Amino acid sequence: MAEACNKSGMVTYRQRQEARGIMRFLLIHNWPIKVKIPFLSFLGVSLILMVTFVWFLPFIESKVTEGEEKSTMQTVDVAYGVLEHFYHLELTGVYTKEQALKEAKVVINRLRYRDSEYFWIVDDTHKMVMHPKYSNLEGKNLSDVADVNGFMVFKEFVLVAKDQGGGFVEHNFSQFSDLDDSQSKKITYVKYFKPWGWIIGSEIDNGEIERVVTGLRLITIAMAAFFAVVTMLMAFLIGRSITKRLVKVITGLKEVAQGRGDSDQAQCIAITSSDEIGTLSFEFNALMDSISDLSCFRKVIEEDQTSSEVYSRLWDVFVEGLGLKNPVIYEVDEAQNVMRVVYPMNFQEEDLHCSPDILDQCGLCKAKRTGHPISSLSFHKVCKQFLHIDVPIEHVCIPMAIGGGIIGVVQFIFDDRGNKIDREEIAIQVDKASQFIKEALPVVETKRLTASLRASTLVDPMTGLHNRRFLQECANNLCSGSKRRGKQIGLLMCDLDFFKQVNDTYGHDVGDEVLKKTADILRDTVRQSDLVVRFGGEEFIIILIDVESDEVMGLAEKLRKHVEAAEFPVPGKPPIKKTISIGISIYPEDEDGFWKTLKYADVALYKAKESGRNRSIKFSKDMWDESEY
Ligand code: GH3
Ligand code: MG
Ligand code: MG
Repeated sequence: MAEACNKSGMVTYRQRQEARGIMRFLLIHNWPIKVKIPFLSFLGVSLILMVTFVWFLPFIESKVTEGEEKSTMQTVDVAYGVLEHFYHLELTGVYTKEQALKEAKVVINRLRYRDSEYFWIVDDTHKMVMHPKYSNLEGKNLSDVADVNGFMVFKEFVLVAKDQGGGFVEHNFSQFSDLDDSQSKKITYVKYFKPWGWIIGSEIDNGEIERVVTGLRLITIAMAAFFAVVTMLMAFLIGRSITKRLVKVITGLKEVAQGRGDSDQAQCIAITSSDEIGTLSFEFNALMDSISDLSCFRKVIEEDQTSSEVYSRLWDVFVEGLGLKNPVIYEVDEAQNVMRVVYPMNFQEEDLHCSPDILDQCGLCKAKRTGHPISSLSFHKVCKQFLHIDVPIEHVCIPMAIGGGIIGVVQFIFDDRGNKIDREEIAIQVDKASQFIKEALPVVETKRLTASLRASTLVDPMTGLHNRRFLQECANNLCSGSKRRGKQIGLLMCDLDFFKQVNDTYGHDVGDEVLKKTADILRDTVRQSDLVVRFGGEEFIIILIDVESDEVMGLAEKLRKHVEAAEFPVPGKPPIKKTISIGISIYPEDEDGFWKTLKYADVALYKAKESGRNRSIKFSKDMWDESEY
């Protein structure tokens, strides 16, 4: 498809991505931090350099030039004062004009400042009057002397001096000799001494200005280079230290996202600073720790066998790991609309912090009903079922919500009567507890489902009684428990008499109803601790736990009579009556083996059938011929 587009002149997806990649790189915020930080320092150094060269150095240059100009002007003023002095001597008649001019020339000729700087004099007709270095020029007309640019230098000197009395003239004139071919810019200050028509001038020392500026330039470049190296090195090191730790965080987070965050090689970042990166590292380590704790917890509970073991571990985490006192774990039975405390195991009803009504009607529990955490710390008297309303005892109840249903509630109690409770700390710990609860939820749910599924395979669906498989699984436990306690087990093998006739006469449905009612009668007649098992068809086994030998016959007779007395309804017909025959044996009185003892009960049952049915017969050794077995 992309190829086709390309052939038709359109931009392919790959090209678009590449273009986008280039565009992305053009945006500074997309650059890697280790490039961004040195770049910023480079930018800063460049800006400083630019400002230095574009503004600072020219500014300094102009200031130095200004100072030079001022001092040259002042020294020319001094020389001018010399002319004034001799002019005064001429006026007062001390000197003739010729003497005054001559003496003035001699004095000015000798005047020096800044070691070698001097003054020269031209007159207003451009004729050189005096030059300390080039005396050969004296008397020459210099009006046509130009600098390298054709600028008529002396004409300008005279013009500026005569027009303004004095001023600066910029030119590129290379002194008065061919020896000096410097073409650099020069500034000359000229001042007009009108009485004699003389113009006295001196040049600013450009070399000095250049020396200062060059020095400054060199210092600036050296400093800039030094700072550039130092700041860029620092920027590189800072960038590297940030990215190094960030890369670890990213790698760690990637591992978490891929479900490997709990591995033994889990990232752990050394905390070397207390800046934001230090805080990030600290929080990241805490996150990895808690992920590792949670994942470790999950692994352990997955290997637990029952939901009770999981509850016990949760409770340990709450109490020992998180310091949350008095947690209570409730399990909800949606079908029955009830809830019960599953942990701590020895929890009594009088220990409840809530009205016991919630146990019989779990909808009364607010956390169960709403599916939200309920906290009296956020809202006082939030739940009506909580008993300690007028006492400073607080509660936080976390529902165990999974797949839209609530399978339990965890309640935390905080006694605020003695030491004041730290609400912020509680909020953090309860939050952590919620994470452990979340982690445990699927495991608890699975264990509960497995348990109920397993229970269903051990129950006869029609009568609700335990089935033969159940008996096979628990027979050993029953026997060892009974032996440990030094007690006996009574086994009653019961079989409805002529049951086949019911099916034949009234049909299977009526037969089923007779079986169900018989099951009810048997279950209701024995104690809660006794077991009633549908062994098959219309045969039932009753296991009387911890009985005395002489009680068994009485119990069997009681059962037989209850069945005999019962009326079994038949739709549209008068109720029918049924009887039952019972064979009795006692473990370990008759035999030290469950299944053999059961066989004896079967033998006794056969005797009961044989001797006329509707009777209970206890096994005796004479009924048994070992060779027949
Ligand atoms: P006896 O007094 O000798 O025990 O006679 P009986 O008719 O009760 O004994 P028999 O073993 O001949 O018949 C048992 C009958 O129970 C046969 C079978 O159809 C019926 N039966 C077994 N299981 C069920 C069941 O789940 N529902 C119904 N309706 N009948 C069942
Ligand atoms: Mg039978
Ligand atoms: Mg029968």
